[in-house]
Amino acid sequence: MTAESKSTEFTENGLIKKPDVVLIGGGIMSATLGIILKKLDPELTIQIVELLSSVAMESSHAWNNAGTGHAALCELNYTSVSEDGKVDISKAIGINESFELSKQFWASLVEDGVIEDPAEFIRTVPHMSFVRGADNVDFLKARYEAMSGHHFFDEMEYAEDAEQIAKWTPLLEEGRSSAEKTAVTRVDSGTDIDFGSLTKVLFNHLVSLDGVELATSTAVRDLDQKKSGEWEVKVKQVGDFFSEKIHASFVFIGAGGGSLKLLQKSDIPEGEGFGGFPISGQFLVCNNQELVEKHHAKVYGKAAVGAPPMSVPHLDTRVIQGRNSLLFGPYAGFSPKFLKKGSMLDLLSSVTLDNIGPMLAVGRDNMNLTEYLYQEVINTHTDRMDMLREFFPDAKDEEWDLVTAGQRVQIIKKDPEKGGKLQFGTEVVAAKDGSLSALLGASPGASTAVAIIIEVLETCFADEMANPEWVEKVQSMVPSYKYSLAEDKELYERTRAKADAALKIAK
Ligand SMILES: Cc1cc2nc3c(=O)[nH]c(=O)nc-3n(C[C@H](O)[C@H](O)[C@H](O)COP(=O)(O)OP(=O)(O)OC[C@H]3O[C@@H](n4cnc5c(N)ncnc54)[C@H](O)[C@@H]3O)c2cc1C
Repeated sequence: MTAESKSTEFTENGLIKKPDVVLIGGGIMSATLGIILKKLDPELTIQIVELLSSVAMESSHAWNNAGTGHAALCELNYTSVSEDGKVDISKAIGINESFELSKQFWASLVEDGVIEDPAEFIRTVPHMSFVRGADNVDFLKARYEAMSGHHFFDEMEYAEDAEQIAKWTPLLEEGRSSAEKTAVTRVDSGTDIDFGSLTKVLFNHLVSLDGVELATSTAVRDLDQKKSGEWEVKVKQVGDFFSEKIHASFVFIGAGGGSLKLLQKSDIPEGEGFGGFPISGQFLVCNNQELVEKHHAKVYGKAAVGAPPMSVPHLDTRVIQGRNSLLFGPYAGFSPKFLKKGSMLDLLSSVTLDNIGPMLAVGRDNMNLTEYLYQEVINTHTDRMDMLREFFPDAKDEEWDLVTAGQRVQIIKKDPEKGGKLQFGTEVVAAKDGSLSALLGASPGASTAVAIIIEVLETCFADEMANPEWVEKVQSMVPSYKYSLAEDKELYERTRAKADAALKIAK
């Protein structure tokens, strides 16, 4: 039976009345889950509900994120130093493997003809780490030695020599005192990704499939689980007075910053105690093509004291819709909104009896974060430029403009010892019966979308995902699924070569 022959009924506003699946949010996460689900079971009917007038307009939009293909090639916050002084690369290995899964999936879509030209969203841009001062140089060297021994990072190069650094990235050395000690690592195969373009391509394909409908300018207002186990989803078109109800057996809350409030509305016990703290991101952008042409890399530095991990400063080449520019940031800002186009009441209205304890505990234990945010908010253009000048000493105030990127809602969760803690990763929260799943947080984000969505599937479709038929289908999209690329060098090299060739990013 095909999806269409299931005699689909529609509401007045054209939504499927009883879809098998409701995907809330038109970002990269819903798009990825929708495509994988339809491949696993082509008969599924799926209703996508997006608040804004089009998909990919919040965090997944190219200008709302930094477009880094996070593979842990340059982000210093993915490697920590343990008490015995050793550099721990385990987190970096996990993130690199997750990024490979995403690449494999996108490559399978190129092979299937879904993505016509991968150059429209992905390209190689070298990934570099950059440090200043003797202690930081020692750290970077130790990190390079620990990482370059693993096959994920064996292409990494290291330099302290100013001439070599200037050859790779002239802007970093122009105007810098020769007395200052600096060092860099470099991996040529890093990537810059336009996640907005990618998300649109994914949705264009998804909505072309039988049994899939997208409702834009439509908000999910409430979620209620019925005795039968199915979810009643209350939706309202922007500008309408009345809402409509649709019913589904599985609901995915991929609403980005809007996920926390919808999770709270679902009332599932697994969602209790979660709170959120919004941090907005801003970047300096330079369109002077003379400078743009001189810099071809994403250069990540060290975070300031008290700064959250996603505020690591970086000077990047960006390519958005064929236009090159330079980007520096992010600078953190504070806004009580949970979405860029959200409400000033978002933060206040997310406080409930069950999360006020963890939220207060986080406020008490994170005074350095509060101080950092306060400082960021009061910074002037010149203060921001001074931070940029640590990377690019000759940067001129008048050549850089401030743009506001997306909002991130950092997760606050219960902690048995401290009462509450702030978490910087992504959290998959799922109902015990597997009928609902919500994604909270946004880091490392879009780059690891496939690994995150596989986690959602393994949690909510546990029986099906244990079935060899589904395993085989997942492997047709993500060939290394169920294997470890970190442990199997030959498999890593083989799958990576195939994916890179399909994505046209091979050396
Ligand atoms: C400043 C910044 C820099 C970043 N840099 C990077 C990077 O370099 N690399 C990287 O991999 N990741 C990065 N990320 C993270 C990445 O952008 C996100 O992880 C990813 O885009 C999240 O996708 P999503 O689908 O979950 O959310 P979104 O793309 O935000 O989509 C959620 C959608 O849900 C909709 N929605 C919300 N509420 C409702 C409702 N009630 N009803 C219906 N629809 C609703 C919203 O309108 C939105 O369209 C960055 C994020 C930020 C903010």
